[in-house]
Order: sequence, then structure tokens, then C-alpha cells
Amino acid sequence: MDAAHGGTDPGAKLSDKLQEKDVTLALSIRLRSALAARGIAVVTTREQDATLPQQARAETANRAQAAVCLLLHASNSGVGVHLFVSPTAPILPTKITPWSSAQGIFVQKSLKLAGTLNGAFTQASVPVTLARAAIVPIDNLACPAVAVEVSPLPPANGAPLRSLDNTEYQSQIAEAMVAAILEWRNGENSR
Ligand SMILES: [Zn+2]
Repeated sequence: MDAAHGGTDPGAKLSDKLQEKDVTLALSIRLRSALAARGIAVVTTREQDATLPQQARAETANRAQAAVCLLLHASNSGVGVHLFVSPTAPILPTKITPWSSAQGIFVQKSLKLAGTLNGAFTQASVPVTLARAAIVPIDNLACPAVAVEVSPLPPANGAPLRSLDNTEYQSQIAEAMVAAILEWRNGENSR
């Protein structure tokens, strides 16, 4: 679980008092504890407001041999959740796969994981857009990987605006992601 940005890299300025790095960290901590409660071990790239090079984030994921990698971002553009999968072409694993193309081995699984996340967010009434983008360091990740960018939800169907610092909204997002990861794990185990 990578809470994008941090330390000297604040990410997007979401409001006068809200920076992207704080939203991603809050979500990461929320997700880690929700997943741990379901017996799923989570390795996070950061647990505080720390400056982390992209290389270090990828190293953490690859050293952990993660079953799933999620890169968390937050944005004021669009609504709901944007899911990004690497645009890299699928490749077959070789004895020594270069670090730069590690994601090529997993990209088909990454697309499947994005589909599972899409289903869970839709179930939770959070609108989703899917796209391919080389969100750094996704191409270096040796695991099924999806970047999850969370945007506010405008008022709809009687529900009020849900902003990125709204704890109810954060927990709605986290619960949907937990549901997706549980479904993913069950699917993986049955194979
Ligand atoms: Zn970002």
C-alpha cells in the first residue's frame, strides 16, 4: 500500500488546509487497519509524513513480494474514483526481468484487479473511471498493481457533498477496497 507523495512532496493542493499527501496517508492507515482486522497483512511504504523516493516505494513492494499493490492518490478533478493500470505491454517472465519492465509480467492481472475494484466501488455507489497511465512507480512493480485516485463526490440522490477529508467518505472508499481485496484473494486461492 503506497500513500503517494509525502514530506517535501505535498502532491495536489486540495483546499486551503488539505494536501494530497495527507489524504493518501489517512486512507492508507484506514485501509491497513481494516485489512489487518480481516487477517490480511499489509506492508505500507510510509506511516507518517515522510519524503520517499519512487524507487524506495517500488523496492518496498517488490521486497515484500506483495500479492497486490495499490498506489493511493487524491485529486479534485472528476468525481468518485479513477483507476489506473499501467499501459505497458504484457511480457513473459524471464530469469532476469529488468526492473523497468517488471509490471509487464503482471499487467494482465492488474487489469483483472482493476475490474474487481471497479465492481466493488460500483457496488458501494462510488462512480469509477478506468484508464491506462504509467503512474510512477507502477511500471517497476512486480505485482498486480492499480493506482487508485480518489476525488470528491458531488451531492446526489439526497446525499450531501462528500469531500476528501470527510471521514465517512474515506471509510466508504476503504470498505469498498477491502471488499475488492477479499474477493481478489478468494479468487486467487481457488485457482
Ligand atoms: Zn498524486
